[in-house]
Amino acid sequence: MISKKMQAQVQSSSIIRAMFEEGKRLAGIHGAENVFDFSIGNPSVEAPDEVKKAIVDIVNSEDAMSIHGYMNNSGYEDVREAIAKSINKKFGTAFNHKNILMTVGAAGGLNVVFKTLLNPGDEVVVFAPFFGEYRAYADNFDGKLVIVSPNTVDFQPNLEEFKGKITPNTKAVIVNSPNNPTGVIYSEETIVKLAKILEEKQKEFGTDIYIISDEPYRELAYDNAQVPYLTKYYANTIVGYSYSKSLSLPGERIGYLVIPSEVADFENVVAAANIANRILGFVNAPSLIQKVIARCLDAEVDVEAYNKNRELLYNNLSSYGYECIKPEGAFYLFVKAPIEDDKEFCAKAKDKNILLVPGSAFGCPGYVRIAYCVAYKTIERALPSFKALIDELK
Ligand code: PLP
Repeated sequence: MISKKMQAQVQSSSIIRAMFEEGKRLAGIHGAENVFDFSIGNPSVEAPDEVKKAIVDIVNSEDAMSIHGYMNNSGYEDVREAIAKSINKKFGTAFNHKNILMTVGAAGGLNVVFKTLLNPGDEVVVFAPFFGEYRAYADNFDGKLVIVSPNTVDFQPNLEEFKGKITPNTKAVIVNSPNNPTGVIYSEETIVKLAKILEEKQKEFGTDIYIISDEPYRELAYDNAQVPYLTKYYANTIVGYSYSKSLSLPGERIGYLVIPSEVADFENVVAAANIANRILGFVNAPSLIQKVIARCLDAEVDVEAYNKNRELLYNNLSSYGYECIKPEGAFYLFVKAPIEDDKEFCAKAKDKNILLVPGSAFGCPGYVRIAYCVAYKTIERALPSFKALIDELK
């Protein structure tokens, strides 16, 4: 008999993954070109050439024992130093290798942070809509997710409600910008206000509240939109970064945490995170790909390909009568369902071989997420079906 916690997980298993499997099933029946799978955030743009070159160079030129061996649980020191320098160059920060811990993607990093910080019952505040896996990650450590309801006007966080939801048990606040599922970038004004609220609440309760900045989409920002670097606005910030989207390497499972020296209880947080990485069973982030990353710190994926998809999808759906705000980053469009029930709308879309994810999976019913990290021609081919769908519902 499986554990009670896992019984619940099996029952509510990720709707995104379920849609992804459904897409494969439908492709088998109708042919892949006639199924429009917008369900999962799997990058459609290839990893840059530098990645392949680095893999080959490293395998051919470095000693096999050092490429594939165990290391410090935080990762190779030279890789962490290179990453710290690269962040410092971009954002004017002053990190070194001691502030960087290599992780198994952003998901691994978030689990390490929660294991490091949470006692049972500790509260983690999230702003809806939010990446649904946060629920499971907090629950892994008996943390309690506290949800701030969505501001559907512009999808910036609802800061008035936020203020009222912080309690003496608040241990962390997750900020995810550019956001999954809205593609919204939280403005500098938002970040300044949010930081001020947290400073005040820390004083009021005499507690330490950490911001966890979950930023796998940092590099996917359009029209030169700026994504504020949160450690510069709030001292108690831990950054979780990932190369899953920025270098199109989701299967390689590589990312890092930045733990600035200014965070509360820094020495203990770093020691605990290092051990958490080990005892959660990751031991360390994958070795070869760490070395690859160190050689690809200035490499970029073709963000313009996503931008073209964004323009095509946003302009056409808007012209058909769908309501959505233009995303500034990531590769998602968050659209108001033309009927009240988002799940029913997804079912109707599926009848037209369009796979979407209901907003309820992100704590925001009444909306659906369209992941436009697909081939441009997939969007072109899907557009008539999107039009037919809304026309039928009008
Ligand atoms: N955080 C957000 C907001 C995400 O959208 C994702 C993946 O889609 C993750 C974390 C996990 O990413 P990774 O593949 O780096 O574990």
